[in-house]
Amino acid sequence: MLKPNIHYRDLKDSYLFYHIAQKTKAYLEEHPGTRLYRMGIGDVSLPLCPAVIQALHEAVEDQGAKERFHGYMPECGADFLREAIAGYYGSRGVALSADEVFVSSGASDELGDLLDLFDRQSAALVLEPAYPAYVDANVMAGRRILHLAAGRENGFLPVPEEGLEADLIYLCSPNNPTGAVFTREMLRKWVDYANQRGAVILFDAAYEAFIQEPGLPHSIFEIPGARTCAIEICSLSKTAGFTGTRLGYTVIPKELERDGMSLHAMWVRNRTTKTNGVSYIIQKGGTAVFTPEGQEQIHRNIQVYKKNAQVLMDALDAAGVWYCGGKNAPYIWMQCPDGMGSWEFFDELLHKIQVVGTPGEGFGACGEGYFRFSTFGSPEDTKIAAERLLELLRGRS
Ligand code: PLP
Repeated sequence: MLKPNIHYRDLKDSYLFYHIAQKTKAYLEEHPGTRLYRMGIGDVSLPLCPAVIQALHEAVEDQGAKERFHGYMPECGADFLREAIAGYYGSRGVALSADEVFVSSGASDELGDLLDLFDRQSAALVLEPAYPAYVDANVMAGRRILHLAAGRENGFLPVPEEGLEADLIYLCSPNNPTGAVFTREMLRKWVDYANQRGAVILFDAAYEAFIQEPGLPHSIFEIPGARTCAIEICSLSKTAGFTGTRLGYTVIPKELERDGMSLHAMWVRNRTTKTNGVSYIIQKGGTAVFTPEGQEQIHRNIQVYKKNAQVLMDALDAAGVWYCGGKNAPYIWMQCPDGMGSWEFFDELLHKIQVVGTPGEGFGACGEGYFRFSTFGSPEDTKIAAERLLELLRGRS
């Protein structure tokens, strides 16, 4: 009899957001008609920008014209988009060739698919708290997972420790859930570690466009030595509102080799086998993001989320609560008051002020005692949620 992949048995039953949805549903059933302020969502609330919409419309027209119609797209991405993305990196001083950029349907797909490149006996290192997909994708593959705890003492930005034996290293900066951003010096420690050990860094840069402080690295490839030890995974989901449209990209340098095998060449082979490329229309829409007009428009939207972050940060400052993130990321990570557990605090916010956030424990054991707010909601809801939160926190002290 065919055996299923038994590693699925090792997955945790209930996914974080499913559990939150169950709890809020139960609350609404008990309190019909109550308005909830959803500060937990990881989805954007603003629509695609006009430059993207125009490019999408034009691409639809192309698909209806015999001379401009496109069938299958190149598996690794259309040249026009790969060149636009390489140009975007170039504008920040990172030299890439267009064929080192692989167009994808989003970072989630890539984070799962890329694991095909690595031996199942290798150990994956996850810095906790972490985006849950890193752990789950490796559990499904039966890979050994190492956890490196991040905490308030290291600003939720750990660097390699003595004796660490990681093969695949997940780094997410700006971080989901903590909003913390690695400095150049910290990333250099990871790059040096990976090169010395022969490990590979999977650098998740899904939130790079939210970095506002000068001098913080947007890409692992800003760090000397990264081209021989890193893969960067990026997404237009949060940057440009493509959560439902689906588009991302992955950068694999040609120098990246392990055991005499080129990971770049392996990924070309993988893509040409397992995909038939991303839709022409979507790639055209995505290319508009990298025009001067598109950049200006997406940053106008990002500013709306940044203002939300400021409103929440002002409330937490006024309440004297410890938090990180918010400045260079669309997430704020706060310490729960009075030693409360993160699900306990979730329940208190839901029941007392009708604000829904995300319990830190859902991102790994060392997220316990912390709570994540997302800044992707509407400014109106964020303002009300911040006022309610401040009142609640003041009432406790
Ligand atoms: N990586 C991180 C850190 C994320 O937070 C998310 C989405 O929330 C993703 C990847 C997935 O992005 P995509 O929508 O491109 O699949």
